[in-house]
Amino acid sequence: MKNLHGKLDVPEAVAAIARRLEDHGYETWAVGGAVRDALLGGSRGDWDLATAAKPQTVRQLFRPSYPVGIEFGTVGVRGADGNVYEVTTFRRDIETDGRHAVVEYADDLDEDLARRDFTVNAIAYHPLRHSFHDPFHGWEDLQRRTLRCVGEPTTRFAEDFLRVLRGLRFAGRYGLEIEPATWEALVDAVPNLPRLSGERIREEILKVLASPEPSPSLDLYRESGALVVLIPEFASVDEAGWRLILGSVDGIPAYRLRLRLVTLLAPAAPEIEPLMKRLRFSNVELRDVLTLSMALGVPLPESGDVVAGRRWLRAIGPENARDTLRLHLRRQRALGADAEARSSLAVRARLVLDVLRRGDPVTVADLAIGGDDLKALGLRPGPEFGRLLEACLDAVIEDPDLNGREQLLERARKLITD
Ligand code: ATP
Ligand code: MG
Repeated sequence: MKNLHGKLDVPEAVAAIARRLEDHGYETWAVGGAVRDALLGGSRGDWDLATAAKPQTVRQLFRPSYPVGIEFGTVGVRGADGNVYEVTTFRRDIETDGRHAVVEYADDLDEDLARRDFTVNAIAYHPLRHSFHDPFHGWEDLQRRTLRCVGEPTTRFAEDFLRVLRGLRFAGRYGLEIEPATWEALVDAVPNLPRLSGERIREEILKVLASPEPSPSLDLYRESGALVVLIPEFASVDEAGWRLILGSVDGIPAYRLRLRLVTLLAPAAPEIEPLMKRLRFSNVELRDVLTLSMALGVPLPESGDVVAGRRWLRAIGPENARDTLRLHLRRQRALGADAEARSSLAVRARLVLDVLRRGDPVTVADLAIGGDDLKALGLRPGPEFGRLLEACLDAVIEDPDLNGREQLLERARKLITD
């Protein structure tokens, strides 16, 4: 961990942006997550700057620059390293309602820091003078591993209920203990979470799932009551079930975000669709989660039963096989399965992977005949087409040698006349 007299490793491109603003008379500081993470000894690319310059000025001083969140005073500036950095004019909140804030430009850094959520997020670092400005003692809190609101917690959560979820995320992510008054106010604010927009909640959940190890934050979601308020389906998940979910989520690498999401939401099975719609997940995300949670419910074939292996692939869709096997594997590890169960799963996974690699026919698209052939037999396109092809697939799954054009046409003819 660094200390407040040390230098932080600010990218030269960021310092150069600050220098240009300061040369024009505008005080400019690095703020937020990058300062916090640098003090913790981590490093990240997205350094944010806070400045006395108004957005129009920032846009004039830097070309190209982009109006990232111009209504909130944020301009994106392309640094010499090619990255775009966010430069935000000092602000203060003038009106809040728990969901959005009306902001105006502030004169100095202190006001800007005062509107930030937690002390550890309210430390400013001057990238040219290499000095810190830390009026809320965020550094002490970082050292003591404490998460504490800037100012009076009840007020701060009531201004923006998203801070409840942000607090749970930061505390879990960095192993911070939530200071008692902050925790009490946070728990009291939990019933207001449904007032937040689905989008903001979804983004927070995805940020938790994208962190290296989501379980501490998710556990705090549960402990604070936020989990059940946001996803009531979790009320019926017991302690053992919850530990299993957490263990499985942590076991999946962070870049497989979709698999982590399925693992978290699968217990809400019958309600996944309304739940994900409420949280404004995309149709693609919804489809993926539904597909994989359904696939998880289809029992894997017993070892040696190749036909069952093909049936399994047909049921879940071969394109989902690898992800489904990954989910089974993580779940089993989280269950602490014994060596016998582990080798049994390995054998069954190998069996379906072999079928997949061999390219055995497992979908209608793999059949040697298609819709055109049925048309040629004088059949009119309609639901009957699908039924006929599925019936052919039934046979081919049992015996792939039946997947020849002539044989299948013969079979189709028979099925039509029967
Ligand atoms: P990370 O990017 O790792 O999630 P971060 O601290 O950079 O963490 P951002 O959401 O990028 O978080 O916000 C940058 C900074 O803006 C925060 O550090 C905090 O000071 C302030 N901030 C962001 N959202 C809020 C909020 N809802 N209320 C108060 N301050 C906030
Ligand atoms: Mg950030």
